[in-house]
Amino acid sequence: LKAVVRQARGNMKVVVRIRPVNRNEKLVVRPVSESQLVFDPHEEEEGFFFHGVKQNGFRDLNKKQKRNANFAFDNVFSEDSTNLEVFEASIKPLVQTVLDGYNCSVFAYGATGAGKTFTMLGTEACPGIVYLTVTNLWEKMEALKEIRNYEIAVSYLEIYNELVKDLLVPGEPLILREDSSAGVIIQGLSLKKPHSTEELLELLRSGNERRTQHPTDVNKESSRSHAVFQVWLKQRDPKTKSIISLSKLSLIDLAGSERGSATGHSGARFKEGMNINKSLLALGNCISGLAEGKTHIPFRDSKLTRILKDSLGGNCNTVMIAAVSPTSNQFEDTYNTLKYADRAKKI
Ligand code: ADP
Ligand code: MG
Repeated sequence: LKAVVRQARGNMKVVVRIRPVNRNEKLVVRPVSESQLVFDPHEEEEGFFFHGVKQNGFRDLNKKQKRNANFAFDNVFSEDSTNLEVFEASIKPLVQTVLDGYNCSVFAYGATGAGKTFTMLGTEACPGIVYLTVTNLWEKMEALKEIRNYEIAVSYLEIYNELVKDLLVPGEPLILREDSSAGVIIQGLSLKKPHSTEELLELLRSGNERRTQHPTDVNKESSRSHAVFQVWLKQRDPKTKSIISLSKLSLIDLAGSERGSATGHSGARFKEGMNINKSLLALGNCISGLAEGKTHIPFRDSKLTRILKDSLGGNCNTVMIAAVSPTSNQFEDTYNTLKYADRAKKI
């Protein structure tokens, strides 16, 4: 099978999405163009009281020096952007790439509450990246039906505490196995073959119900699991029926990237925090290793990176969506996310 996985130059795009502000929150990121933002911007001192104080030479010494850090990404989506806009600008080109036989992946990275799940799954009224991507893929596939012979299958898994769980067929944790020709195999992972987009979306919906933290339940504890939705596309020669290409589209809602310390340091929660950090740290190390052109990439360091080995760098086209809150209560998380994203964009 390896022979039919097409090789292409790795290509990584990094975009940032800023979620809308809630009332009484103080802003710390400001988009300045379609691809640039400022973190912790200097305030334009407004109002004549402040102005007066400044002119008299007084300074509030308790006030932190503003970082005023400029960042540039492939795209910056401001608070009023829609899921459709994010899809059109950053994700849509991947659909054709998958149809052409290359692996593609989309990651949503960021702290809990920054907007990852909103971006990936969305709501009934504004469907997210997963919905928009699979419906677009299906449309394109239908249009090509006469000349190209496609077969589609989907899988949906969750990594929680370094345990891999099948979200389509519940059961025991799945075991990863190294195969010399096929790479990493997730033993027993169910692959469902939907016959329509409706069926495909129903699989997504039923998988979401089984996620450790239900994605739409905002009152629950923060999300500590990685959700990996994959669409497998097999293309056959219409005449000979031999396999021409096998490609995979991975859509990943990563666990919250906040530090372990923020989530408590005891018992099960601490273990969860450790494992999440392990996976996200491993992901970061793989991404920066690929960016620096290193020969040894530490894919083996976590379940997440083992599973995504063929979906990162190499022959894969990747989009990382870094989700950030615009406000001061997530100041450090936002800064860490921007730094992580900045490091990723060098692939
Ligand atoms: P995460 O998955 O990163 O923890 P969520 O996607 O659950 O964060 O977002 C946190 C809250 O903010 C949710 O109530 C969500 O509906 C809301 N939210 C996030 N992004 C947006 C957006 N772009 N527009 C409107 N509401 C949003
Ligand atoms: Mg979430």
